[in-house]
Amino acid sequence: MSPERTMFDLLQTYAAPDADATQLLCGRHPADAVAFTLVEADLSSRDLTYGRLEAASARFAAALAAHGVRPGDRVATLMGKSAELVTALLAIWRLGAVHVPLFTAFAPPAIAQRIVGNGTRVVVVDAGQRAKLDPGDDLPADPARIIVTTGEASGGDLSFEALLDEPHPLPSPVAVGGDGTLVEIFTSGTTGTPKAVPVPLRGLAGIHSYQEFGLDQTDEDVFWNAADPGWAYGLYFALLGPLATGRRSILLHAGFSPELTWQVLERFGVTNFTAGPTVYRALRGSGLPVPAGLRLRHCSSAGEPLTPDVVTWAEEVLGCPVRDHYGQTETGMVVGNAWHPSLIAPVKTRSMGRPLPGFAVEVLKAGSDEIAEVGETGRVAIDVSASPLMPFSGYRDAPDRTAERFSADGRWYYTGDIAARDRDGYLTFGSRDDDVILMAGYRIGPFEVESALTHHEAVAEAAVIGAPDELRGELVVAYVVLNPGAEGSDALVDELKQTVKTRLAAHVYPRRIHFVAELPKTPSGKIQRFALRGRELSTASS
Ligand code: ATP
Ligand code: MG
Repeated sequence: MSPERTMFDLLQTYAAPDADATQLLCGRHPADAVAFTLVEADLSSRDLTYGRLEAASARFAAALAAHGVRPGDRVATLMGKSAELVTALLAIWRLGAVHVPLFTAFAPPAIAQRIVGNGTRVVVVDAGQRAKLDPGDDLPADPARIIVTTGEASGGDLSFEALLDEPHPLPSPVAVGGDGTLVEIFTSGTTGTPKAVPVPLRGLAGIHSYQEFGLDQTDEDVFWNAADPGWAYGLYFALLGPLATGRRSILLHAGFSPELTWQVLERFGVTNFTAGPTVYRALRGSGLPVPAGLRLRHCSSAGEPLTPDVVTWAEEVLGCPVRDHYGQTETGMVVGNAWHPSLIAPVKTRSMGRPLPGFAVEVLKAGSDEIAEVGETGRVAIDVSASPLMPFSGYRDAPDRTAERFSADGRWYYTGDIAARDRDGYLTFGSRDDDVILMAGYRIGPFEVESALTHHEAVAEAAVIGAPDELRGELVVAYVVLNPGAEGSDALVDELKQTVKTRLAAHVYPRRIHFVAELPKTPSGKIQRFALRGRELSTASS
């Protein structure tokens, strides 16, 4: 089917005023079809069918309703990737309630930030995470908060299992409609305080379209998105996307390790794999032997720039290139090197691809809403008027932050990222707006310098920032994590400077290089350059 035809159908389906998430994500799929193959850390597995999910989630919804959950209430989950998590989500949506995802690596302050102040009534929590919800300085006690644990329930907690057995009449699904909110998810916090993004049900149209056209997930695929559903990438495309398309996918009930990732890829014959760049980098850096029996057909990545060294490595080692895709919590995936046969085109080194169906993504000149020339670096913006799949209309309770994102006439949504477009419409990511380095009149994107540095065999990871400099405005400064066995010496500093000069350009080489054990990152693994800028400032003033 063509992207245009599918777009029309998707909008008819997910944007309808009477759209019903329970029906769309579960009820309409055959009861005996497998939704997820749940894989444990010991590689044992079992299939979870739509029929089982429907039955269990209806019972769980009945119990939540009996405990007072109403349409529009917030219900958070602090859970790993499990049958209980999927059951809880479908129950929340059956009741017309709003899901608030909490990442299992969060500490109590991050949890409090997401559940205090938005009226979260219930938190469903894995037994192993339960202690994080104990009241304390970060999380004030709230007598109205209900905690449902997958473990032994004590105190005022409720037991997940016991709730499934409570004898209540099963509630009919609440149809919240295309504009109704399914999820309230926070951005990653790479540039500062995370922002709360309400995801409307019609946002499933873009998510479904991405599974189809971006990832080319087919009925024959063994599909695995390894991202964590505490974040948009995992929630949208490891849970919502597969449930929307009704196609089977793998859900790994374990934390990340390169060893386990290789094992799952091999044992389950994964054909269509997607994960953030850090996963590919960790596989590469682990030095573990690559399993002989890989069956990968498509590999995709998103969330952070995909450095060219990973692309080259993947082609050689995985036997399949990694295609880079670009998106945001706010928008879903909007640009990409799509895999679908009707859209597939050669990958250009460093490019994150072209606008995906349903999104008109443009590059605007700095400081104006005029479209930039071919090759000119500018602000990436979405033309809302020409983007039927655009889901985002504003952050929760943050009119100022919302207003910063849209042009006064509402036509443009500014992503906050910088890129250039070539003659064929391919976009090349430059950096985040905030991360651009202005040195002696030059605009320098940190990512290019970082890519040049990671090309050196001693370098595992690099982050490049601008540090204030009286003479030149800013100076290029690099923080570098070395590979095991490499030593940070003056000779290496010189070599790295030389690498950047020869691979990129003479003027952009880092004037200072710090060797560090690790880089500051969000819990989802994104480099927080603003934290390094702070570190650089405090070193300079001390
Ligand atoms: P916050 O908005 O809280 O600062 P965040 O922007 O990292 O955090 P997300 O919505 O998870 O939160 O990430 C979206 C951002 O990730 C994009 O705006 C872009 O900067 C970056 N990104 C995503 N995909 C890619 C990609 N393929 N290449 C380069 N950058 C990417
Ligand atoms: Mg952002």
